[in-house]
Amino acid sequence: MSLQEAIQHVNERIVAACKRSGRNAEEVRVIAVTKYVSSAKTRAVLDAGIQHLGENRPGVAVPKWEELGGRGIWHFIGHLQSRKVKEIVGKFEYIHSLDRLSLALELDKRAAAAGVEVKTFLQVNVSGEASKQGVKPEEAEHFLREIRELSHLKVIGLMTMAPEVEDPELTRPVFQGLRELRDRLNASGAWKEPISELSMGMSGDFEVAVEEGATWVRLGTLLVGKGEET
Ligand SMILES: *Cc1c(COP(=O)(O)O)cnc(C)c1O
Repeated sequence: MSLQEAIQHVNERIVAACKRSGRNAEEVRVIAVTKYVSSAKTRAVLDAGIQHLGENRPGVAVPKWEELGGRGIWHFIGHLQSRKVKEIVGKFEYIHSLDRLSLALELDKRAAAAGVEVKTFLQVNVSGEASKQGVKPEEAEHFLREIRELSHLKVIGLMTMAPEVEDPELTRPVFQGLRELRDRLNASGAWKEPISELSMGMSGDFEVAVEEGATWVRLGTLLVGKGEET
């Protein structure tokens, strides 16, 4: 399948999932996860009309960002070490993996120094798997209250990863759980403004995530492939 065909195929599946769940497909945005592919392939993704790129290793992503002259809108989607924050603030507009206070403080400090505001998703471990990053759902409200005075960090949404399972239908409770948590957090007023975004759904489970309210899906394998090494 060519890149254009893959994009069209994904869009059709998103539109169908929206139809099934009574949603407007314009609410769902696609992040092309380019962590598996070279700068050349990443450039082809941008040329094909995709704006949003997802990467998870600063050491790989920053040289790529430089090679591409900062084209695109960059999303950091992996575990982020505090000492790497200064390398990516100012290049990555969105961080999907805010999961601890020390990281929030470092992001705020580096964003202030760079004169930018960094948009974040609070990563929540809804499934409870030991291998997954993220705050526990019951800790999310307290966490948001703890960081609400940080002026250069904005929480715009929640992010989660579902367990890897054969049948994507089994991921539904996880995505539903994230949506319900967002609604409870908004009712609690823990954050300064309503939190609207849900970053959930990957190649194997994005349709279920869209049906449950995803506003950002993160697609690597299905969209840009995985074969080629960086
Ligand atoms: C790699 C990755 C993705 C993309 O996974 P695919 O299954 O290849 O679509 C999405 N989100 C995160 C956090 C990832 O690390």
